[in-house]
Amino acid sequence: MNATTRARHERDLIELTGLPTATAKEDRVIAWVERWAKRRKNVELSRDRYGNLMLIRTGVESKSPIIFTAHLDHPAFVVTGVDGKTVTAEFRGGVQDAFFVGTKVRLYRGESSVKPSPPGTIRELRPAKKGGFKTVDVQFRQRIEAQPGDILTWDVGSAQIKSGRLHAPACDDLAGAAAMFAAFGELLKIRKDPPDVRLLCTRAEEIGFVGAIAACKSGIIPKKARLIALENSKSFADSPLGGGPIVRVGDRTSTFDPGLTFAVGQVAQSIAAEDEGLKWQRKLMTGGTCEASAYQALGYTATCVCLPLGNYHNMDEQAGKIDREVIHLDDYHGLVRLLMGIGRSLDDPETAKPLTSRLNQLFADHRSLLS
Ligand SMILES: [Zn+2]
Repeated sequence: MNATTRARHERDLIELTGLPTATAKEDRVIAWVERWAKRRKNVELSRDRYGNLMLIRTGVESKSPIIFTAHLDHPAFVVTGVDGKTVTAEFRGGVQDAFFVGTKVRLYRGESSVKPSPPGTIRELRPAKKGGFKTVDVQFRQRIEAQPGDILTWDVGSAQIKSGRLHAPACDDLAGAAAMFAAFGELLKIRKDPPDVRLLCTRAEEIGFVGAIAACKSGIIPKKARLIALENSKSFADSPLGGGPIVRVGDRTSTFDPGLTFAVGQVAQSIAAEDEGLKWQRKLMTGGTCEASAYQALGYTATCVCLPLGNYHNMDEQAGKIDREVIHLDDYHGLVRLLMGIGRSLDDPETAKPLTSRLNQLFADHRSLLS
């Protein structure tokens, strides 16, 4: 990948991971996606009745497309009430209680404003009632213009690249989204026999992948699709930042389609064997449950590829404070490359050859040794 292309992919990455978003309040990211699609003549954007978005290359529709999918939300607050200088909000997403009181947040009005309010401080945290969310009181220095439905995000600054790493308010999952848009953009340039790759942008993942479940029920996903869920997953000592994108065999809840996971691994291996190689990892990532589990459980064929993530859900556990999430840029570019490879060669006869035929071949080649 040349320097200009890498720079373009990084620009989109910085832009997306800096956008304020919350569960079921993904409007700003959706607007970004709509602008992206509008700039391309050969892309059609559709949505299901739950607001999940599908991008399709026009004219290449098949029965078993490859669908890259990422969610557009990130743990954040949604305003439920306003009283002078105090805003009450519910927190949609998974962050430990210890990180709330005393931490600063900023408010974004309406559905499109990206201009933050001056910071306010969380004064009180109340536990979730059954079926609901934890709520907070945020104190601002001045009377605040706000209304229910506005969102608040942690006051952690903007998305920035520093020493080969991206530090951003919302890598999860907007870095995954950026990678799939980058790869899709490159795959759209293929003129001869282009693959049927599609993008599915889901909503409301952070409260239990409700958008993905809705997508399974709305009919937006063809039954025979191969779903590659993109995620950011909490990095552990054996899945370090900079170790390359991770072919994720499973999560905390379930394991993914073995055949599809194997084929994705084959693609990764063949890119790794190229001149400039590709660092990649194959792991069970148990830091959370991802949408691939939902797709699998609801009858689709799915696997996951993820980026190792530092400061998962903005929790800097060592410092005990909220901060930006971190990914390694090489992992990001590696993920884009892997996705392009999946688009180009997942259905190549050699890549698509299942493990059973490889085993049978081995047996045919060497059975004589045993007789
Ligand atoms: Zn998450």
